[in-house]
Amino acid sequence: MLTSEAVKKFALECGADIVGIGSMDRFEGAPKECDPRYIFPDAKAIIGLGFRIHRGLLRGIEEGTYFAGYPAMGYANINDVFAPMVLRLVGNFIEDHGYEAVLYQNTSVRLGCNVGKPVAEGMPKPDVFLHFRIAAFICGMGEIGYSKLFLTPQFGPRQRFAFIITDAPLEPDPLFEGGLCDRCMLCAEECPAGAISKTKTVKVKVAGREIEWGELDETKCAAVYQVGTPRCSPFLDEKSEQFISQLIEGKTKMSAGEAFSQAKSLVAYSRNAWESYHHPSAICGGMGCIRACMVHLESQGKLKNKFHSPFRRRKPWWYSPPWV
Ligand code: SF4
Ligand code: SF4
Repeated sequence: MLTSEAVKKFALECGADIVGIGSMDRFEGAPKECDPRYIFPDAKAIIGLGFRIHRGLLRGIEEGTYFAGYPAMGYANINDVFAPMVLRLVGNFIEDHGYEAVLYQNTSVRLGCNVGKPVAEGMPKPDVFLHFRIAAFICGMGEIGYSKLFLTPQFGPRQRFAFIITDAPLEPDPLFEGGLCDRCMLCAEECPAGAISKTKTVKVKVAGREIEWGELDETKCAAVYQVGTPRCSPFLDEKSEQFISQLIEGKTKMSAGEAFSQAKSLVAYSRNAWESYHHPSAICGGMGCIRACMVHLESQGKLKNKFHSPFRRRKPWWYSPPWV
């Protein structure tokens, strides 16, 4: 008999940093296009695998000298290399016990979800998009912070996820009881795009719990996460600076997809990053939603992944960039 304990032990041995298990009924009420029960109607459990983003991968951005480490190793490598390898091994383990394992890698957004035609009436359009943060919540791995980023007691905002949907009857973990995000609002204050609203929030109900986060301006975040702003990017020229400034001041209106494409087309570093590892170059380095939040949670002693020295050791360079 395959137990949750055995699956978790194996997944950790294979390289996952966090493992949680949720039951499929916790997806009740999810929009069809995000409901994994349409991918595997006989599924009994969802297994969440969390992979740490090393704190040191944010170091070069913090110092202003090395921006490629985080997007390459903390983003593309986890999503496209390491997590799929662990998914595969854990999938083998489950299928060797006679249950199916649907391996769900973090790639669907990049392929385009909900764009095909429904194969029958009442069905969602393919591809069904698993909402990773909601799924991680369902697996009891942590909570969604005000920033909309997923926070875990192990690493705060520093991890990425992959999932397995299975018909193995695995015992679910309890939902996380909360207590990480204290609404300090540093994520909103330090976001260089001003993309996280301090006043407007989004509320959803999942597994009987109400979850709330700050409304995110996806257009501003899509562009600024990728190429930064004049305050936090050394890779902008006059044209791209003007584009980003107008976008974050609200003078240019466009969809998140258009902002993402235009920003990338204007900044050579970001175009090259996309060609090299097929992920955004992430120049802002999560200035608000990752770094400010992590510094805050670490200072409160809330995270299990401890370091001998604090992350922020010097006055951040972006407060006085030479071109301002
Ligand atoms: S910085 Fe982190 S802890 Fe503070 S409000 Fe934002 S998500 Fe919550
Ligand atoms: S990724 Fe950057 S732009 Fe987007 S919310 Fe986080 S800090 Fe703001």
